[in-house]
Amino acid sequence: MMLKRDSRTQSPWQQIPQANPTYLDTAKAAYDVVIIGAGISGITTALLFQKAGKNCLVLDAGNLGFGTTGGTTAHINTFFDSTYPEIESKFSKDAAKLVADAGKLAIEMISDFTQTYQIDCDLETKVGYLYAETEKEAEQLSEILESAKRAGVEVDRSTTNGLPISFLQSIKFEDQAQFHPLKYLQGLAKAFITLGGTIKENVFINDVKQEENHCTAISDDEIFTAYDIVYATHIPPGINKFSFRCAPYRSYVLGIRLNDDEQYPENLAYDMQEPYHYFRTHEVDGEKILILGGADHKTGHDDPQQAFEDLENYASQRFVIKDIPYHWSSQYYVPTDGLPYIGRMNNADDHIFVATGYNGNGMTWGTIAGHIITDLILAKENKFAELFDPCRVKPIAGFTEFVKENTDVAYHFVVDRFKAGELETFKELAKEEGKVVDYEGNQLAIYKDKTGIITALSPVCTHAGCTVSFNSEEKSWDCPCHGGRFDLEGKVLCGPPQANLKQISIGK
Ligand SMILES: Cc1cc2nc3c(=O)[nH]c(=O)nc-3n(C[C@H](O)[C@H](O)[C@H](O)COP(=O)(O)OP(=O)(O)OC[C@H]3O[C@@H](n4cnc5c(N)ncnc54)[C@H](O)[C@@H]3O)c2cc1C
Repeated sequence: MMLKRDSRTQSPWQQIPQANPTYLDTAKAAYDVVIIGAGISGITTALLFQKAGKNCLVLDAGNLGFGTTGGTTAHINTFFDSTYPEIESKFSKDAAKLVADAGKLAIEMISDFTQTYQIDCDLETKVGYLYAETEKEAEQLSEILESAKRAGVEVDRSTTNGLPISFLQSIKFEDQAQFHPLKYLQGLAKAFITLGGTIKENVFINDVKQEENHCTAISDDEIFTAYDIVYATHIPPGINKFSFRCAPYRSYVLGIRLNDDEQYPENLAYDMQEPYHYFRTHEVDGEKILILGGADHKTGHDDPQQAFEDLENYASQRFVIKDIPYHWSSQYYVPTDGLPYIGRMNNADDHIFVATGYNGNGMTWGTIAGHIITDLILAKENKFAELFDPCRVKPIAGFTEFVKENTDVAYHFVVDRFKAGELETFKELAKEEGKVVDYEGNQLAIYKDKTGIITALSPVCTHAGCTVSFNSEEKSWDCPCHGGRFDLEGKVLCGPPQANLKQISIGK
């Protein structure tokens, strides 16, 4: 059986058998640490705690790898979507050095875990090429080269970009890596369980509370108690500062079989377009697959079908394609000031921790989150904790982005609430299509299935009241404000909502 994901499209990673986590049958069990979310952040953190002798419980609304970790492309890098020149100018040169150190440490940690726990996850060391196709990009590339070197990253000019794509200039980062993210995750989970840890799947946490001496994580029918709770949910649920500091994006990926074996990249590669394309090869069932990602856009804003088409056109102009067995998309969160938020959620006394705002670099940041959060809870020094502190105030660095992202949110609040949707009758809706319609004075999110049966939901996102829009590729309702996503029955798939969309009976 395929591993499930929060999206209908399927990544090749999902084709491995379901792991067999242990289950709890007691309700109000007490733990040292409860971790919400069984992606790379949650499981890495859980393993580190369990190794340190703590008693941990991991809860997930779906299953291991249900979130973006099951839809990633699993490049493991020491350079990031926020470039070194950006980090130097928004933070400092020392901050850029710390970021470079964090990247190297994450790769070391992944490699150590893989060896220690004998995880067979196709981990390979690679070179990462970043290449410019225009003069302007070439200038930016030179700046990236200089500043990455200053930060201590091993990088140099290159005469190739490792792809059958022409370029003006290229640089190469040494000691990058790639792996099979779900084999890795299952390996970590197995090690965690062997050390006495517990994973409980299909538990959606509606609320977390910090009491005087302990914290609780609350689902519909259970309460879990711990000294500390970690939100490893990719974005913490509810309306909080992270709703405004992290903007949700979708990214699209094709798994392509090529006619010419020579065209498969040996290494990792990235162009500098906006949005950029990212390339690598992975062997799936003994067969090479070119994994090409790109066409990113803000969740709920652009047409997902168009995004896949654009990516396919891009690929077919550059590669000799045999067929495309995999199409998938997934979600990530862009932090306003460029660096992730990892640590205590609100203040120094907090026993609630968060790890979010990873951009497209969550293999690194999810690993580093485990490192930072375990040290914070175990009261150990951690040299990265201050830089990634979620309570950091970066008014100047964050301000322009914040205004841009927040303006967008305000637009959806106003227009979607007070302007009626397009008038459409149910009959005009094609099969397997969904749309927000104005029907007898009410807005409805309606979907017509293959057989012509129509279901209706309230289109008002339960997170902050914006109107959801239909994602035709994932057959989901996606919120353009903060990235809440719901399935066709209105159930939360991912993002910050804590409640499902209201189901509406529409009669005959
Ligand atoms: C298409 C794409 C490609 C990418 N490629 C790369 C790449 O090559 N390299 C890289 O470093 N990064 C990449 N990223 C980013 C990276 O995949 C993510 O940052 C990372 O997987 C996030 O891991 P996570 O554990 O924090 O969150 P997730 O993997 O999303 O896990 C969060 C978990 O929390 C659970 N959860 C959420 N809310 C609740 C709740 N209320 N109760 C219970 N459980 C809950 C979810 O079910 C989910 O399983 C990519 C992202 C995308 C979208």
